[in-house]
Amino acid sequence: MTLSIRFGPENKPMCDEATALHFFNEAIVHLGYIKAKRIHYLATFFQEISFIDSRKVSLQVRKQDPQLTINQKRELGISKRAFFSLAALEDLTEKGLQDPLHAHEITFRRAAFNVNRYTTIQRHQKQGFCNFELKAAKPSCSACNALDGTTIGLKQLRIGNLSECKEEACQIQVSPKYL
Ligand SMILES: [Zn+2]
Repeated sequence: MTLSIRFGPENKPMCDEATALHFFNEAIVHLGYIKAKRIHYLATFFQEISFIDSRKVSLQVRKQDPQLTINQKRELGISKRAFFSLAALEDLTEKGLQDPLHAHEITFRRAAFNVNRYTTIQRHQKQGFCNFELKAAKPSCSACNALDGTTIGLKQLRIGNLSECKEEACQIQVSPKYL
């Protein structure tokens, strides 16, 4: 399997397969909505992801055939008009079953933001940057808001855990800073 993260108009791979799988696995384990053994099935969808279209990718996952019957959707507590494949149902843990329409999307989003921060840092580190400015998404949690506009050095940057963020998918952005 060739797995790479693509985004942007040129559709260039953002990172290698090992990096993509690392962050996808982190999101699956940390959030707990998706069964760990489903990582390779879902990774084939994750390769098309960008940090802005986790919604689209999760819809693609849920749109696969065969679909759940109307009765099965009712049992799952989702709208009969919502797409939901048998395979997507198979992905869900107990926690995922409590929130079936949220499970895939948030897992893809967490992984994609971590991949994006990681590759941004890697790329600029190679160019000699040692400091990065943090920019919190709006709205964000209080931990991310407190970090908004601050500059931190490479040593303080911990991927996937830049702040004490309590959100499921931290959307804080890092950009290289000229000092
Ligand atoms: Zn946060």
